[in-house]
Amino acid sequence: MNTNHATWLKLNRPAPCRSEFLRLVTLLFGCSLALPWQVPLAAHRGSHFATSQCTSTRLVVATQQPAGVQVASEPSAQSAPKHRPRVIVVQPVILCDDDGSTPAVHAFPKRLIDRVYTKAKLELLYLQPLRWNHGKARRGEITQHQIIRDGRHQGIISPDKRIITLLFASTTDRKKGPSGHGQQGGSTCFVRLGPSDRQADPLQLAFVVAHELGHCLNLRHVVDDPAVPDKPANLQGMGALTDRLSAAGLHDTQRDTVLRSPLVMDRLRFYTLAEAQKQIVDETWEPYITGATDDMLRFSIGLTADAPLPQQPQTRRRFAKQQYAGKVLDFNAAEKTLLTGMVQRLQALIGSSWPGVSRFPWHFVKVDGTFCKGMAHTRGLSIFLSGRYLEKMSTDANFGLKLLLHEKLHVIQRLNRKSFKPLYQAYGFVPVTLKKGELKQLNAAQNPDALNVSWAIHSGDALSLLITTLARDTEGIIQFQEEYRTLDKQPDGSWTIGAIREKDGPFQNWHASFPFRVGHDHPNEVSAYLSGLLLESDHLKTLNRDLTAAQTDRLEQTRNAFRNILRLIGDEDRNASKPSARNLPGPLRTNRIGELYCHVPVTLYSKTIQFHSGGLATGSGVCAPPSIPYFPPKVNE
Ligand SMILES: [Zn+2]
Repeated sequence: MNTNHATWLKLNRPAPCRSEFLRLVTLLFGCSLALPWQVPLAAHRGSHFATSQCTSTRLVVATQQPAGVQVASEPSAQSAPKHRPRVIVVQPVILCDDDGSTPAVHAFPKRLIDRVYTKAKLELLYLQPLRWNHGKARRGEITQHQIIRDGRHQGIISPDKRIITLLFASTTDRKKGPSGHGQQGGSTCFVRLGPSDRQADPLQLAFVVAHELGHCLNLRHVVDDPAVPDKPANLQGMGALTDRLSAAGLHDTQRDTVLRSPLVMDRLRFYTLAEAQKQIVDETWEPYITGATDDMLRFSIGLTADAPLPQQPQTRRRFAKQQYAGKVLDFNAAEKTLLTGMVQRLQALIGSSWPGVSRFPWHFVKVDGTFCKGMAHTRGLSIFLSGRYLEKMSTDANFGLKLLLHEKLHVIQRLNRKSFKPLYQAYGFVPVTLKKGELKQLNAAQNPDALNVSWAIHSGDALSLLITTLARDTEGIIQFQEEYRTLDKQPDGSWTIGAIREKDGPFQNWHASFPFRVGHDHPNEVSAYLSGLLLESDHLKTLNRDLTAAQTDRLEQTRNAFRNILRLIGDEDRNASKPSARNLPGPLRTNRIGELYCHVPVTLYSKTIQFHSGGLATGSGVCAPPSIPYFPPKVNE
């Protein structure tokens, strides 16, 4: 949503446009306005509770899903991961020492994991990896519970229970060999992939990650799962690594368990009215309701500036939630068909350039035209659309494609917040921390797509803020109003917002370097607008306007950055070693070491072998065999 005042007026009271293009731009960009909100979490398909972290025979707690959960009949899904109807989204976190050095060995196996989960028709998608400077956690000097607490507190572990946080540590349980812990039925797992100076086997790395993710998906060890036979080889049991990671490595009952996990998301989803009522009031990602000012609530609900609001916090929240829930609608069949077709078209257009956009979930909520004045926007992982936009999309395909891309980019910005930072700084934005209360004092609008107002603009040696505030017009209607203000640095390093200032020459030049008229108040919007222009220029081949040299540079700057930010994270990023013997794209192969590893009687994985603490597995809760941790150099082939 774009909070720009001019956009807002254009959108609602169509003014004469100078050209068809401008009209299109107005319609397209006007869809994104400023609002206060947030993203809802996915509706859980089964009641889950995350219990033991550990995955040993003794410690696994079986969290059986309620009976009667249906496994939906499959469409004739093709087997290529990108065509699969479901995804799991994983946030990798690489633990480092406090000074940022010594990152834990990490790898992002994808192809092998996609293969073993073939039966569940899901694709694994990694978010951009985060580095977390927390030496005690990297070295295993504090408990995993403490690490999780710290991770939540510092915003490292995703607040969204649909997203798996995969932490790479160097030591856990005072051991260093490849192994891990998955939170049974939870959303956090720890893996350690061995010391950085040892060559690791890609099969082994993939197995450790796939196995631990399995615990998050609520898979138990075969030894604890009466429904799964010892043979054939299983992801959670015994067998050769190649077989455990094959499509047959997941039993039918395990597939059903995986499909009941709230971590498994439909790639394309239209929220029903009942589901959408929960989505629209969900504050998992940001405090859309509780953080909204009175005028923002009025604007969102569609009330006039004078409308009274309950002031007692609980009553206010209840009132807002009721009002919000009353704004959602069901999509009709034609709208679903329209959006499905547009998503597929967009996936075909940008799938190879920006798979980090096209493959992530496309979740839609429909709202009525009075909610945030019907403007398209996002909350959490969902795109909110009103009938007005759907109608426009049905008659103007290019408009629809650009709109979907623009909004989806806001979802990706939320998921990969840090990755966009260098691009935003290259645009000329500067990150600042505003003093608490400054925005409320100005009655700033709250754009759910850019809720974090922490980007200033250089103006000479000083910093300024382009900000959208809420003001009442002569009819008592709340409207957006753009202001350009000075910023003043405080002794504690924070900034206060000063007087309105003139949009001087340097500002005008900076503004004109972007080939659109509105949305310059936040880099989330700037980059989303530029994505639409890149779509026109590079994919639709419909960009037929002259750009200045500066504007062409902006496109190029964005094109280059997107190539990195929006790529697919996967096997190519392995840093643990050079897997010279095997290139993953070929058929699965193993080697001597792999076979040796596989044939070790690992207590935890077999019902037929008695648990014994003195053997290879010690019952400490470790999943992978700890006693054959590394591959000595030069043994493959
Ligand atoms: Zn936007």
